[in-house]
Amino acid sequence: MKKRVVIVGTGPGGLTAGMILAHKGYDVRIFEIMDYIGGRNSSFNLEGYIFDLGPTFLMMKFILEEMFELAGKKIYDYLDLREIEPMYRLVYSGGREFFPSSIDKESTVKQIGELFPGDSDGYWKFIKREKKKFDKLVPCLQVPYDKYRHLLSKRLIKASPFLDAHISIYKNLGRYFDSDDLKIAFTFQAKYLGMSPWECPGSFSIISFIEHNGGIWHPIGGLNQITKAMAKVCKENGASIYLSSGVKKVLVKNGKAVGVKLLNGEIKEADYVIVNTDFGYAVNNLFDREVLRKWTPDKLKKKKFSCSTFMIYLGVDRIYDNIPHHNIIFADDYRKNVHEIAVTQELSAEPSVYIQNASVTDSTLAPQGKSTIYLLVPVPNLEGNIDWDKEAEPFKQKVLDICETKGKLTDLRKHIEVERVITPPMWETDKYVYKAATFNLAHNIGQMLIFRPHNKFDDVENCFLVGGGTHPGSGLPTIFESGRISSDYIMRIDGIK
Ligand SMILES: Cc1cc2nc3c(=O)[nH]c(=O)nc-3n(C[C@H](O)[C@H](O)[C@H](O)COP(=O)(O)OP(=O)(O)OC[C@H]3O[C@@H](n4cnc5c(N)ncnc54)[C@H](O)[C@@H]3O)c2cc1C
Repeated sequence: MKKRVVIVGTGPGGLTAGMILAHKGYDVRIFEIMDYIGGRNSSFNLEGYIFDLGPTFLMMKFILEEMFELAGKKIYDYLDLREIEPMYRLVYSGGREFFPSSIDKESTVKQIGELFPGDSDGYWKFIKREKKKFDKLVPCLQVPYDKYRHLLSKRLIKASPFLDAHISIYKNLGRYFDSDDLKIAFTFQAKYLGMSPWECPGSFSIISFIEHNGGIWHPIGGLNQITKAMAKVCKENGASIYLSSGVKKVLVKNGKAVGVKLLNGEIKEADYVIVNTDFGYAVNNLFDREVLRKWTPDKLKKKKFSCSTFMIYLGVDRIYDNIPHHNIIFADDYRKNVHEIAVTQELSAEPSVYIQNASVTDSTLAPQGKSTIYLLVPVPNLEGNIDWDKEAEPFKQKVLDICETKGKLTDLRKHIEVERVITPPMWETDKYVYKAATFNLAHNIGQMLIFRPHNKFDDVENCFLVGGGTHPGSGLPTIFESGRISSDYIMRIDGIK
């Protein structure tokens, strides 16, 4: 008889595990509380305008290719991936703009020479050293860290001279560049982990290397197409996906997961349970208190969590072809802004804003001649004492002002046809994200590798964790890896290759 796997949640982590295990012959059933698939990597449609809810940057597409191969499929049969060129437009105080390119590195160097005199040689040093770090570190992120002896693995020891974990990512960039603004161009990526460049471990400078070396990708239809394609592969491989079928509890007998109880009371037995929900939500909701030892709600509360995001999604009646696909408008005092998000946890008087203007690349997202504008503003998570009922509207107006001026979205307000706003409290209540920490547990060194929730859940046998709250971390490529690591665990138990 086929071994039965129940997966809780259809985020990219759960679907990666689902498509691999179904291909390997497991009886896979995936239960999702929402009436749509994809979790934070889903889409929504507002009167014909299609928006990605969360992720808009795909990096390391080779990892996604590998996941499809492990599921017996070819990614290009499912996704039309386009490399974004230039990668993004970075806007500094005074309106200075930098357009880094992954395809045309000479253009990046030329711009550095013009905008940040004296720093262009540093670019090649950055590429050379960070490549070595990437080659050594990535294999370390593709294996589990469940036992202290894993920290002594040859792989990790060889990587250790490149870890740079004792310094911040910002300080690490000082190896290559003098200009503060240029360092910001290579460290703002810490925000992808919901962290400050002045706190995030130097190891993560591989993220900007990954962008500069491998590019940033967009699937036509939006990044939500990734989870839609994965769900299709799951079904083709024999898995079943049940929407509007929330899980109430993971059932545990003698310390082992034996299935789940749905919110409607039905019991679904299983040999293995994979939990893909937000980890903090799972600890607080999916397990009876007495089965938790290492990861109790009280212990979790004391951990460090990522920032949250204030989101504005706009359908507008024109296309802004004066700006590229990805745009990042830094606050004039970026360091202060980041400090307010991560440390003092207050709302910045002057925020930084990310603008996704995907319709310049992808005509499928909006009616003809119109476009979608996605605005993401990093803000404190719910540990901050912000009255969002009061602050949301003035904050939205402030963000729109920034878009209309530094953002170059001229007269944006006049062109809005539809809009949706998501505030941090909405991430928690509507999307089940603990503390509204949209990028999960922070990635400080004390919460990485062995110190992050293990893919093989410590507190319950036959229960596995996938997604951004577990090892290796909270970005799409690492989330795919969590699906692979947990699938490998299960297959190893059953002697399946
Ligand atoms: C605004 C935003 C922007 C981001 N941008 C990027 C980016 O550009 N690039 C990048 O690489 N990463 C990005 N990320 C981070 C990360 O890639 C995504 O958040 C990713 O979708 C997280 O995947 P996951 O597998 O952890 O689970 P999630 O996507 O959180 O999925 C968990 C699933 O579990 C379901 N669930 C919850 N409770 C239950 C229950 N009781 N029963 C059944 N199902 C349940 C949820 O509905 C959801 O479908 C972004 C995240 C956010 C929020």
